[in-house]
Amino acid sequence: MSDTDAQRRQFLKTSLGAAAVAIAPGMLLFETARGNTEAASSKVRWGMLIDTAQCTQGCNDCVTACNKENGLSGGTAPTDSQWIRKIDLKDISSGHELSLPMMCQHCAEPPCVDVCPTAASFKRADGIVLVDRHRCIGCRYCMMACPYKARSFVHEPLTDQKPDVPRGKGTVESCTLCVQRIDKGQQPACAEACKNKAILFGNLNDENSEIAKKVRSVVSVQVRADLQLNTGIRYQGL
Ligand code: SF4
Ligand code: SF4
Repeated sequence: MSDTDAQRRQFLKTSLGAAAVAIAPGMLLFETARGNTEAASSKVRWGMLIDTAQCTQGCNDCVTACNKENGLSGGTAPTDSQWIRKIDLKDISSGHELSLPMMCQHCAEPPCVDVCPTAASFKRADGIVLVDRHRCIGCRYCMMACPYKARSFVHEPLTDQKPDVPRGKGTVESCTLCVQRIDKGQQPACAEACKNKAILFGNLNDENSEIAKKVRSVVSVQVRADLQLNTGIRYQGL
């Protein structure tokens, strides 16, 4: 980052920080919208291990659950928001087919955060990467920077929104790992909805958690591991 960029970013951070304090001391607008004031802990790294062998072709239960939980239309046109989508893969030489869910990978080194000029894209201490729609100016730099095409731009006015899932026309959004559920001790909607238990959610930093034990005992990969983004979403059987 150049000196000018760094100064501009710091200026924006400072200005926006001042605005947030004016509204509610010690509380960001994003947190106000969610009704959550408890700080996320860096002792936790939320993640998912997706077992592609358990993920059935044609099954869309995780996508349907995500849409319902977060108030998305479920449309798949280029201008519709899709926080999670199913991808079908086929090995041309063997004919072996796979089906897997793809969403924001909650990178530990997220390029979307690096390029955001307003600090609207940010990573919580527990590894969840989010967009603060009050800060997002809709420039879509993050969409260009994300190697997983995980982000959507909201083109149309929204109606019937979920009270604890802030969204807005002219801003960018992506999978939040169902932060509104995690902060209440629940599983993300996709993980809960999967009948085959293909999505294992948990704390990667807790060596005694089910996900940490499984990551130690099976071969799992990060998609585009060569980019060294240290994703929170891992895949088994790829
Ligand atoms: S997958 Fe894309 S949107 Fe999600 S954290 Fe990584 S770069 Fe950002
Ligand atoms: S679209 Fe919003 S979140 Fe994305 S880089 Fe621009 S300001 Fe940041």
